[in-house]
Amino acid sequence: MSGTPRTILHVDMDAFYASVEIRDDPSLAGKPLIVGGHPTRGVVLTCSYEARKFGVRSAMSMFEALQRCPDATVVPPRGSAYATASRTLFDLLHTFTPLVEGLSLDEAFLDVTGSARLFGDGVTIARQIKAGIERATGGLKASVGVAACKYVAKVCSDLRKPDALVVCPPGEEAAFLAPLGVERLFGVGPKTAERLHARGIRTIGDVQQRSLEELVRLLGEDSAAHFHALAIGDDDREVEPGRDAKSIGSESTFDRDLVGPEPLREPILRHCEEVARRLRAEGLSAGALVLKVKRADHSLVTRRSVATVPMLEARELYDLALRLLDKLDLRRVRTRLVGVSASALRPIEPVQKELFADTVEVKRPRALGAVIDAIAGKFGDGAIRRAGGR
Ligand SMILES: [Mg+2]
Repeated sequence: MSGTPRTILHVDMDAFYASVEIRDDPSLAGKPLIVGGHPTRGVVLTCSYEARKFGVRSAMSMFEALQRCPDATVVPPRGSAYATASRTLFDLLHTFTPLVEGLSLDEAFLDVTGSARLFGDGVTIARQIKAGIERATGGLKASVGVAACKYVAKVCSDLRKPDALVVCPPGEEAAFLAPLGVERLFGVGPKTAERLHARGIRTIGDVQQRSLEELVRLLGEDSAAHFHALAIGDDDREVEPGRDAKSIGSESTFDRDLVGPEPLREPILRHCEEVARRLRAEGLSAGALVLKVKRADHSLVTRRSVATVPMLEARELYDLALRLLDKLDLRRVRTRLVGVSASALRPIEPVQKELFADTVEVKRPRALGAVIDAIAGKFGDGAIRRAGGR
């Protein structure tokens, strides 16, 4: 970190899909509401804050969600309504700066460092954005975080949702982050958190206290350096306006080059699973897939294919990826990196209306279980188990 501090905003709509549903049907207000529910792809896309009190979360299986909150109202997603609200949001954000990086339909980073003369400081701009969104979308609310880097801005926006405006002044990152749990460090999953907890490292402040050497022993070199820097709010990633969430990708570089196409299948499957998980979490389907292969000599080949029906499942992505892999002649070719990315992203629409209608009416887990069993009988239960997913 050097020079003049940047002013980065993270804007995140509150319970986005659920809020759109409540806006369009005010009788849903104040009730536990779940948007989601396709039985074979049954995950929660979003839920209202009332449902969150019961422990319902995005990307949770509908089955589990309805066990936790049997009285929730379930509504099917209306992708076009969310897409319209999303366009309104991004149009508004672009009036403050061209430096808008979309992360999903309802979430973006903005670099407003250069916008101060026109619009005021970060907090002033954040207030205008919050008010502007509410006005332009007919009452939807957003939480905004203001900080000198992306990571801290995102932590800020998430800290006091909903309808929050949280600021971390430049230079105060370490003190600001110190009391927060290590789970808030970007990249710390349940496993890493457990490993840190076992060593008495519970807060980001604890991470700040430990030496880099100890963290390296605990987490390996790359992760340790990453978390050590994040813990003091050291994150110099730029806001990248090109990346308007047009694709979701996953890739890996191998420790040792792999020879031929066969050994690439397993990593490709893992990447498809990761991409599918993120699609589900965002409530998106993919219309196309890109397979990317970097050879040992660093030459890069990519192949793209368009799907006949929108893809949601790892299995669908994987089938297409394997077909692309076959087209690349990789016999005896040494490969150092492989990746897949999904594009032509669209909000999920209920595809099979009949099946969908069943789940919307079914409110009790036992009855939902029966629906799932019935569908399992029809399609084979592999599909159902996958749908419960991670
Ligand atoms: Mg959101």
